[in-house]
Amino acid sequence: MTHAASPARSDLPLVKVKSLRKSYGDHVVLDNVNFEVESGKVVCIIGPSGSGKSTFLRCLNHLEKPDSGEIWIDGQPMGFQLKNQRLYELPEHKIAQQRARMGMVFQHFNLFPHLSVLDNITEGPVQVQRVAKAQARQRAMQLLERVGLADKAHQYPSQLSGGQRQRVAIARAVAMNPLFVLFDEPTSALDPELVGEVLSVMADLAREGMTMLVVTHEMTFAREVADQVVFMADGGIVETGTPEAIFTRPTQQRTQQFLQRVL
Ligand code: ADP
Ligand code: MG
Repeated sequence: MTHAASPARSDLPLVKVKSLRKSYGDHVVLDNVNFEVESGKVVCIIGPSGSGKSTFLRCLNHLEKPDSGEIWIDGQPMGFQLKNQRLYELPEHKIAQQRARMGMVFQHFNLFPHLSVLDNITEGPVQVQRVAKAQARQRAMQLLERVGLADKAHQYPSQLSGGQRQRVAIARAVAMNPLFVLFDEPTSALDPELVGEVLSVMADLAREGMTMLVVTHEMTFAREVADQVVFMADGGIVETGTPEAIFTRPTQQRTQQFLQRVL
């Protein structure tokens, strides 16, 4: 029996995090974080600077190694393997394989500067997934069409605006057919007039059913696009709920204080 590229097993949460803890030296950055995301949902993570949001995303893709706790992606332990009821860290190539199932979009675009827009998008599918070049280029052109940049296919990142680069970064993440996409403040480095075009591409992606975890300060986006909002502060999840619940009747004082400052 063959397995299709990426459909999730719908009976399980796509991402499950249990009792996650991460510290740097004696500074505990994440403590007892429990979290689940179902396939097809958009989760926005909000919270003050330094609350551990980036560290949390980096633990999900094992760019940071948690001190303890479990992370399950589509029913498989991320970074670890379960043997005789103990978790052992997986070898680096296995971790890389799992990481390739998640798309990532960061604040700074991290496009390959020496590659054209088109080649930035086909690089992963061709080099990592061994997709035929012609097929990868065809898919890349479709994705560029979707993010409104088909006419930029043969330009280089340095010739694009920040908003255009970030839209290419999103197309590049999606080209790998990820199970979900992690976004870490994708619009924070952009000039204000370029934020909207990136958020609109993200909203399209959400509408198409992509599972997304988005760390953002864009409260309007969180309110309109998220299925679930997570408020983090001081290394933990303080409160989580629908956008309606979090933005109109937060139960925790910490959440109320934060929202008063940012709204
Ligand atoms: P956020 O993304 O919510 O702003 P971060 O996850 O970046 O928060 O950081 C959470 C805390 O962890 C901060 O106090 C930060 O200084 C600390 N931190 C993050 N990365 C490192 C690191 N590599 N080494 C030491 N401390 C770190
Ligand atoms: Mg951060």
